[in-house]
Amino acid sequence: MTRHFIPTLLSVTLAAACIASASANPAPPAPTPAPPPPPPRADPGARPPRVAADPRRQPSLRPRSERTAGGRALVWRDIKAVSKHPDKAPRVLVVGGIHGDELTAVSIVFRWLEWVGEDSGKKYHWRMIPASNPDGLLIRPSTRVNSKGVDLNRNFPTPDWDSDAKKYWIERTGRDPRRFPGESGGSEIETRWLEKQIADYKPDVIISIHAPYNLLDYDGPAPQPLRFGRLALNRLGVYPGSLGNYGGLHKNVPVVTIELPNATMMPSPRDQRAMWVDMLKWMDRNIKAGNGSAKETAKRPEKYGEPVFKGNIDHKKID
Ligand SMILES: [Zn+2]
Repeated sequence: MTRHFIPTLLSVTLAAACIASASANPAPPAPTPAPPPPPPRADPGARPPRVAADPRRQPSLRPRSERTAGGRALVWRDIKAVSKHPDKAPRVLVVGGIHGDELTAVSIVFRWLEWVGEDSGKKYHWRMIPASNPDGLLIRPSTRVNSKGVDLNRNFPTPDWDSDAKKYWIERTGRDPRRFPGESGGSEIETRWLEKQIADYKPDVIISIHAPYNLLDYDGPAPQPLRFGRLALNRLGVYPGSLGNYGGLHKNVPVVTIELPNATMMPSPRDQRAMWVDMLKWMDRNIKAGNGSAKETAKRPEKYGEPVFKGNIDHKKID
C-alpha cells in the first residue's frame, strides 16, 4: 500500500509545485521549457522526471492568463507528434483532476507524461492538463468541487443544462453539495477554460480521468472501448453538464472516462502499464485526425444516469 501511495503523493506534490510556481508569475511568459521542479530530497521515492530524448517533445507546463477564483493558474503541457506531418497527427486531450479530491486522477497524468515519448505514444499530439481543478486539489483537505462549491463536471453548458441540471441535482441527488452544478451552465472559470481548450485545440479524443469507481465509461461517436487493463466498460449514463455529455454528445468528440480504482492510492505499476497499452491500442484502431472538427449537435440524452455516486460508496476513499 505504501509503495504505491508514495508516487501518488510525489506526483501531487509536483502538480502543486507546478501550479504554485505558475501562480507566482502572473505574466504569461514565452513558451520556454521549464520542467517541474525536483521533488523534495527527504522523499524516499523522489526521482527527477524522466526527460524525453527528442527536445520537441518536452515543452513546459504553460501558465496562462486564465486563473481560478482562488487565483491559481490553469496550466497544460503540449507534446507534439513525432512524424512526417506532426500537424496532421490525431489530437488527444487528457483532462486530469476535474474533481480536486481524486488525487490519483492527477498523478496518472504525470505518469503518462513519462510515457508519451515511447514509440506507442509518438504518433499522437498530446495536450495534458494534469489538474483542471487546482483550487479543489490544493485546498486542504482537497475537495471535489471548486473553491466556489461547484462540481465542474456538472457545469458544462450542455443543451439540457437549463432545463435539467438543477432539477437533477435537487430530485436525484437530494441537493448533494458535492454535486452542485452551479448557478448556470458554464458559470465557472475552469469550465469555460476547458470549453476553450476543446474549441481551440479541437481534440480527436478526450480522456477524462476520475476515481474511485474502477471502470471505463464512454460517450461519443467512435466504437466504445471495452477494457483498459483491469478497467472494464460499465456505462454509467450521462449527466446534465458533464464533460462526457458536453464533449461526447454535444460536440461529437469521443470522450473516454477512466475511473481509477482508488482516489488516493495509485494502481500497481503493472496495472498502470496495462491500462496505458490497451488505451493506445484502442486509440490506434479508432481515433483518426479529423474527429475534432465534427459538427456539434443539440442532442439531449434519452436517459440520465442514476446517481450511483450517492449512498453506495465509501466517502472515506474519496475525502
Ligand atoms: Zn470524479
